Formats: sequence, C-alpha cells, structure tokens
Amino acid sequence: MSPRRSSRRGGRRPDASVFARWPPARWCAAPIAPRSWRARCLLPYNRVAPTVYSPAEGSEEVQMPGKVVRVRRRERLGLAQRLYLPNIFVGLYVTARHFFRNLWGYIVGRKRTFVVQYPEEQVDYPDAFRGHPVLVALENGEPKCVACGLCEFACPTDCITIIPEETDAAIERYPREFDIDMSRCMFCGLCEEACPEEAIVMSRSVELATYEREPMLLHKKDLLRTEEQLGRRIDYMREEYAR
Ligand code: SF4
Ligand code: SF4
Repeated sequence: MSPRRSSRRGGRRPDASVFARWPPARWCAAPIAPRSWRARCLLPYNRVAPTVYSPAEGSEEVQMPGKVVRVRRRERLGLAQRLYLPNIFVGLYVTARHFFRNLWGYIVGRKRTFVVQYPEEQVDYPDAFRGHPVLVALENGEPKCVACGLCEFACPTDCITIIPEETDAAIERYPREFDIDMSRCMFCGLCEEACPEEAIVMSRSVELATYEREPMLLHKKDLLRTEEQLGRRIDYMREEYAR
C-alpha cells in the first residue's frame, strides 16, 4: 500500500506539504504549531481572525489589536451525545412536569401556568408592540399623510405604494392611492420611524390570515384609523422618539 494511504479508512491522507503554510498567518493571533494534520484542518473553525484597528495617518491614537475570541469545540461527541436518548428523556420530563402541574391547577381551580383561550380571550399587548402599519386619519376622515414618500423609500420590502396628488386645500398634497401589501410587510416599523407627520403608525392588530393573497393588499380606506384608536401607540412613539 502506498505510504500516503490511511491505514484505518483506506482514504488518501493529504500530503504534509499541503499544510506547510496552513492556516494563513492572517487567521492566527499568534504563531501556532498544531500537532496533527486533523488539528490543522480544524484550525480555521477554532480560531477567529483578529481585527486590527488602524488609526488615521498623523493621529496620536495607539494602534491596538482587536479582540480575539477562541471557541473550543469538541472534536468527538461522547456516547450519550451520540445516542440523544438522555436529552429526549429530559425534554419529555419537562413537558410532563408542565402538563401535570397545569392539570392539577385546573382541578383545584388555581391556574399555575399562563394559558389564554385565544381568540375568545386576548392578551393586552404592551405599548411597544408592533402590529401592522395603519394610516392616521384627520377629524375630517382624510389621511394625515402628505404623500412625501419617505415611508415608501424606507420600507425594506417595498410593500408600500403611494400615488400622490396636489390639491388647493391647506395641506397641498395627499395620497390619492395608498396601498400596503401585508403579505410582504414584516412589521419592522421603519415606515413609522421615517414619517415626519406621525401619519403612519404601527397598530395593535396582527390578525391578517386569509386563504387568498388579494385580501392582503390593504388600500387607503382599509388602513385609516382615528387618533383615538391609536392613542397608546402615538403616546409611546412621542415618548420614545423624544429621548
Ligand atoms: S412595517 Fe416595515 S415592512 Fe411593513 S410597511 Fe412598514 S417599513 Fe415596510
Ligand atoms: S412618510 Fe408619512 S407623510 Fe410621508 S408618505 Fe409616508 S405616511 Fe405619508
């Protein structure tokens, strides 16, 4: 048998010269000398490249190396880890403990775990909760929006479509069409942050499930809400953005 062949698995063992310059020096915080070819193969995964901060030319700042994080991973799993059985029993024990504790609480009339009979019972979400975005309506029922397009620009999923129009009213621009495709919206709230008029606000509603895609495209009339309906969120926004 060729001296390059592994005696145990019959596969080819890489020539030592392959690892002569391995790993590249830039991956290592300090000179290293791994003992085996296997250790050399695992080196890139066991070390994180140091990041070096370079001050601007002429600056008096001291050049400092970045933080080096070393992660030690076990090369071989133990017998218990390979079997998975102990962890399966631990999971079953936790589930059974919660089940019987909850059942006992139900029998004696004292709830021990937090369960809500949704949708009949609903949780009062905190003020920071973000449901789907809606438009704030003025007292005359028209949107507060001035169709500046900032929310459309800020939206990372391109799910807002605005068609602006000019008027002779005090607020000269308004959105003739304002659509949000809720099948693409990810409730990130960037549109709310971008709006200079507090005209688009994250509501507390998340119940949007449908069997079709078409009802997920909400138009201006579907999105309008009064300031009273959105009071908690608007107060929260003013408090947060004023910080
Ligand atoms: S919440 Fe995010 S994804 Fe949804 S419309 Fe606003 S910016 Fe777009
Ligand atoms: S950022 Fe506000 S005012 Fe501008 S288009 Fe969007 S909702 Fe209207």
